Amino acid sequence: MTDLIKDWNNRKAAKNKSHKKFVKRLKQHRSKRLDQWGDQLHEQVFKEVDCLDCANCCTSIPPLVNKSDINRIAKHLGTKTADFKVKYITQDEDGDQVMNASPCPFLESDNKCQIYEVRPKACREYPHTNQQEFTKHLELHAINTQYCPAVFHILERMMASFPV
Ligand code: SF4
Ligand code: SF4
Repeated sequence: MTDLIKDWNNRKAAKNKSHKKFVKRLKQHRSKRLDQWGDQLHEQVFKEVDCLDCANCCTSIPPLVNKSDINRIAKHLGTKTADFKVKYITQDEDGDQVMNASPCPFLESDNKCQIYEVRPKACREYPHTNQQEFTKHLELHAINTQYCPAVFHILERMMASFPV
């Protein structure tokens, strides 16, 4: 486990309140520049955090799986769409289609994704801190600090130069 993941594990609960407060403050500063900063910090932090040392999203948050995800993954597995849905998909409390188990049924013992090349869009885009979309998902970042060490450290680095 990398130092940043250990550090996240040790401090995530204690920092929860201040991260929420910080995100509230960021809402008043939504801008292209903030999105660009999110992109930069995302690149920086993911150079230090290896998802294969973590896999916490795959073990704790069932991903949304849309219609084209289902068609693509079923085709990749050589399964009929209907059979794939019965075996792997359920509806969450909002009525969205999600993977039916946590940890995800496609997570392997070495933390690799069995369907990596065709994984759901939601998995490809998690944790939504880059692609100029940082400010679009501010509320989510406040929650994700508890699940994703990268989000935690991106916010920590922002707070260091933009304190609450
Ligand atoms: S499909 Fe792959 S990337 Fe997505 S949650 Fe499952 S194991 Fe993780
Ligand atoms: S929780 Fe974050 S750091 Fe961990 S595997 Fe998922 S995206 Fe990577």
